[in-house]
Amino acid sequence: MCCIRPLLTFGNLLFPSRRLMPYLPKKQPRKETIVVKGGDTFGTVLNTLPISAAQAQEATDALSKVFNPKDLKVDQALHVVCHPQGEGEAHSLTSLLLRPDIDYEIKLMCTPEGELVAERHDIPLKHEYVDIGGTIHMSLYADALQKGASPKMVYEMIKAFSYDVDFQRDIQPGTVYELFYDTHRDEKSGLERAGHLLYAKLVIGEKAHEIYYFQPPGGVGGYYTAKGSSIKTALMRTPIDGARLSSGFGNRRHPVLGYTKMHKGVDFAAPTGTPIMAAGDGVVERCGPFSSYGNYICIRHSGNMKTAYAHLSRFAKNVKAKCKVRQGQVIGYVGRTGRATGAHLHFELLQNGKHINPQKITQLPKTALGGKSLAAFKAFKAKIDKMRRDQERKKRQPSA
Ligand SMILES: [Zn+2]
Repeated sequence: MCCIRPLLTFGNLLFPSRRLMPYLPKKQPRKETIVVKGGDTFGTVLNTLPISAAQAQEATDALSKVFNPKDLKVDQALHVVCHPQGEGEAHSLTSLLLRPDIDYEIKLMCTPEGELVAERHDIPLKHEYVDIGGTIHMSLYADALQKGASPKMVYEMIKAFSYDVDFQRDIQPGTVYELFYDTHRDEKSGLERAGHLLYAKLVIGEKAHEIYYFQPPGGVGGYYTAKGSSIKTALMRTPIDGARLSSGFGNRRHPVLGYTKMHKGVDFAAPTGTPIMAAGDGVVERCGPFSSYGNYICIRHSGNMKTAYAHLSRFAKNVKAKCKVRQGQVIGYVGRTGRATGAHLHFELLQNGKHINPQKITQLPKTALGGKSLAAFKAFKAKIDKMRRDQERKKRQPSA
């Protein structure tokens, strides 16, 4: 992710890379930045240095006490200092520094007794709120980034609005936007870790689309409109990621039986083992083998809606009849059990017991908050709106 990238720049400013300094004068300490590549371990990295194998092992052991070597990531920068020893090429490792994440760094130092000791230092971060807005000239992404928005938050905003807004067609130059989020910043390096996108707005035509990130008491956090209805539809049209629609709804020549038969659902071709998600919150009505459907799950949702999933290779752990499931929860895996020519998901949508075409319905019902959850949302919304107004006021005031 891009948030890791600045670490490299930050590091390379401190220590020039090895490639830039091929001929170091003798007797000078050797400082370099090594960037971790795929398959690297502390061992493979340290063995590229002119230090003894025993010292490389000692350093690895010391580092492993404060940092899980498995967490060493590709592109991680290691800043190393070695001192020459004796007349030859031999060096001794004197320090090593890495910053695996924005909020801590690992320092390996050599004690006066010549022992290598590693320590973890936590870096205090400042929690702050960021409000960024304006009009779009190029694209939401480019314009917001130019104003200093976190790329992660802009991406989050685009993802959240994509339920309602067609970014190709609806976003024109002049579209007004705003995003408000919290972030944890290291003031020294300027590095930040964005938290939640608490609010975002897009004004398309005359209509302001506003969303708030809200966690209902006892529920899962998500985005809601100003009126308190979820931006997500109560049912997903495609309960599987990256699958190709291989057969639509309606009359078709049956691939196995060979005669024309009503296809009561839609088929998504996907490799065996691809996770299948619950299309919406609900209760599992049936879970098990079911004649030509093979391994089959049927979920009952609110509003007299049901969804069914067939030909599964297996069911997800803990998914059984009568259990509650949430939208997006993995309930099983693609397979070809029952009457199926290849691995695919057969997906059905039923309203009042009647099969309907999931691709055809334009307006899927949305989940709206009610009762105590709605009251909590209204209080949360008022707080966020006030914080935004305060930020706005601060920006307008000339700085002292
Ligand atoms: Zn089918």
